[in-house]
Amino acid sequence: MIYHTIIIGGGPAGLMAANVLEKNNINYLLLEKNEKCGKKLLLTGGRRCNVTNHLSIRDFIDTLTFKHKRFLYSALTQFSGQDVIRFFDLHGLRLVLENNFKYFPETEKSLSVLEALIKDIKPNHIKYQQAVKELHQEEDIFKVVTKTDVFYAKHVVVATGSNSFPSTGSSGDGLVFAKHLNINYFPFTPAETHIYSSQIKSSYKALQGVSLPKRVVTIKKQKTSYQGDLLFTHFGLSGPVVMHLSEFIYADIQEHGSSLLTFSFVDKTKEEILEHLQSDGASYVHKQLESFTTKKIIDVIYETLNIEKKKVAETKKQDLNRILDMLTAFEVVIDKVEDKEKAYVNKGGIDTKVLDPKSMEVKAIKHLYFIGEVTDLHGPIGGYNITIALSTGHLAASHIINHT
Ligand SMILES: Cc1cc2nc3c(=O)[nH]c(=O)nc-3n(C[C@H](O)[C@H](O)[C@H](O)COP(=O)(O)OP(=O)(O)OC[C@H]3O[C@@H](n4cnc5c(N)ncnc54)[C@H](O)[C@@H]3O)c2cc1C
Repeated sequence: MIYHTIIIGGGPAGLMAANVLEKNNINYLLLEKNEKCGKKLLLTGGRRCNVTNHLSIRDFIDTLTFKHKRFLYSALTQFSGQDVIRFFDLHGLRLVLENNFKYFPETEKSLSVLEALIKDIKPNHIKYQQAVKELHQEEDIFKVVTKTDVFYAKHVVVATGSNSFPSTGSSGDGLVFAKHLNINYFPFTPAETHIYSSQIKSSYKALQGVSLPKRVVTIKKQKTSYQGDLLFTHFGLSGPVVMHLSEFIYADIQEHGSSLLTFSFVDKTKEEILEHLQSDGASYVHKQLESFTTKKIIDVIYETLNIEKKKVAETKKQDLNRILDMLTAFEVVIDKVEDKEKAYVNKGGIDTKVLDPKSMEVKAIKHLYFIGEVTDLHGPIGGYNITIALSTGHLAASHIINHT
């Protein structure tokens, strides 16, 4: 039998595409590698699943960091974060706004999100434990080969995800299909993950556990900056600002062998602090500085620079400069970014230039679509990635319906 459409992969992207096809009574089949759908979805948002966020389409796109982000305009216009909220509402699951930014299911369970996505799909439309091994085009028909079966379809939607958390089934298979079909792609690399620093492990052990709110962290060579909360860990650095910068730090390390980051421990400039210190020459420098940050940080600075704690008037100008430089422009070397398999998201995937932004269809191969994280589209933590998966899934399936 020849199916109208085969969807490969039952994550949020594939399941949303299935919902659209189901509603339109299409003779389709979803092939899922695992014994159940949405294994990664279940892990998301600390098992609470941050489904989407409250941003307008323009703000959503503006926040993304890759150059071709406008590609998403059509998908989000056709199915936005607000449409995501409406979809779940219609499927019996209310999404609740948290901290005026992220939407989580009112049940606080990612399982509810998966259940809502799967609710309307007829059981005979999903085949489990069907890992697709090969995808061929034979004239107007696609041949989809799994370990045990061969399926045929007029349209194929690839929704196999990236290479992050491969134990959930997302093991980069979509790029294998792309390679075979001569479709351009970028290898998956880590994004939204932790970074390692042997310098922190050896020289700044005392800072482990220190958490600094709203730091502007800059990658020195790239001059890329981002602001957010920062955390010193036993292996290096973490926190939202680091997660967000991790893909750029990875690129910097690939190019230069390591990456130099800089940030200030305090909210004041060096000049402001100098002025403040000079207004009270009889006071101790370290005591004054502790009022801007923590004792622990000031102790580490004095120990690292091997400077004796003295009064302002007694501290050499050169020493004062070194202390203030370290306080306001701390530098740290990063040697490694967490592997792509352990990163929350992957950069890379199907080159968006080969896809039609109005449909997610491969321009050179009619009736073949790539959706979700298998494409070179990703966002920061905060509901962006599931929204991208749902929105591109909706767009591709709607295009299939409207052009049949
Ligand atoms: C721990 C963690 C937490 C996260 N939290 C959030 C969050 O709160 N909010 C957010 O927006 N994003 C979050 N993300 C990112 C988000 O989960 C992904 O971006 C999203 O799941 C991508 O959806 P997808 O459908 O494209 O791919 P996936 O969810 O990866 O689904 C791909 C599916 O395809 C199947 N598959 C793969 N290869 C084959 C094959 N050859 N044959 C058949 N089936 C195949 C897989 O088994 C899988 O079911 C998180 C990621 C992780 C790892």
